[in-house]
Amino acid sequence: MNQRGLSEEKVLSLLRSARLRDIPYERVLSSMCTKPHPVAVKAHMQFIESNLGDFGLFSGTKELEEKVIRLMGSLLGCEGACGYITTGGTESNIQALRTARNLVNKKHPNVVVPSSAHFSFDKIADLLGIEVRKADLDGEFKVDAGSVESLIDDSTIALVGVAGSTEFGQIDPVDELADIALSRDLFLHVDAAFGGFVIPFLDKKYDFDFSVRGVTSITSDPHKMGMSTIPAGGLLFRDETCLSPLEIDTPYLTIRAQHSLTGTRSGAAAAAAYAVMMHLGKDGYKKIIKRCMELTDRLVEGVEEFGIHPLIEPVMNIVSLPVPDLEGMRRELRQRGWYTSITRSPRAMRLIVMPHLSDEALEAFITDFGECLKNLR
Ligand SMILES: *Cc1c(COP(=O)(O)O)cnc(C)c1O
Repeated sequence: MNQRGLSEEKVLSLLRSARLRDIPYERVLSSMCTKPHPVAVKAHMQFIESNLGDFGLFSGTKELEEKVIRLMGSLLGCEGACGYITTGGTESNIQALRTARNLVNKKHPNVVVPSSAHFSFDKIADLLGIEVRKADLDGEFKVDAGSVESLIDDSTIALVGVAGSTEFGQIDPVDELADIALSRDLFLHVDAAFGGFVIPFLDKKYDFDFSVRGVTSITSDPHKMGMSTIPAGGLLFRDETCLSPLEIDTPYLTIRAQHSLTGTRSGAAAAAAYAVMMHLGKDGYKKIIKRCMELTDRLVEGVEEFGIHPLIEPVMNIVSLPVPDLEGMRRELRQRGWYTSITRSPRAMRLIVMPHLSDEALEAFITDFGECLKNLR
């Protein structure tokens, strides 16, 4: 650190040059995050100093957080859901399984997740000392309920279903998982980090949330398709008894106890999530999702003209394309400014059609995709 501080002007110019090295979202088809809605940004700025880790000092912000949880609960089939705004899907998944682990007393606990589960479950295995068993997927990349059942034993504490898988955007048969969970008295967590703000707004209806009896907890992230600012994840439980295993005494704060994994945490993110949900309403989200799905359809139509067919018909705004010479294709597209991603098994190009993508950008991508394909063939 310098002995003498720099002028604000100098510091801001350092920031500007760093920011210029960041990639603008315009040509990013690899990210599940997007430009936050302007109203979320305004709310975030207004609550920038608010700390929900010590919410006795910030009761106004705390009330907003509680309202956000109620809004999300009603969107996810349970008005009375409880929970809190986390730093994201990873923290939500950690905390859900920490609750599941602490609710029962097993010596060597294990959980059964689909093999499509997000890598946060590998962190969970390490952090919580839980064995994570990965169940097979069916031909459409949904978890196979038979495979889940075969992995359950006396030490199983929870099942996990994914609603909007990170790689394929697929929705597991949550009703089937719920039947298994109910019959075996297991905790059932649904990871809808991405899908939580997509599935409720699709034309087709899916049973994936608290409306399915047997679902205990849900992860759904405002900072992905919720259009809110980072860091905003959501962790919801069907009932209060699930929060108590997370409770820690906080002797020197204005509050008696804390349930969050982090101590100091952003009130700005909760205010931003509240602002954008109130501002958009269901109609607003529906419009955003509809547009993303129209662009997704157009993307599929475009690449099909080049003889490339997606691995599954997109369920949400995620497309997986088996392309010849995947790494070559990605390199060529990267040279034209496009950021793409991959799926692991089978290996394919993974594209996420987020709200930041314009119609023009999509058409330009389809054209570039076709040219790169021709060059490599
Ligand atoms: C993105 C994602 C996560 C992780 O969320 P972070 O906010 O990155 O921690 C977990 N699960 C699924 C299904 C995801 O898509």
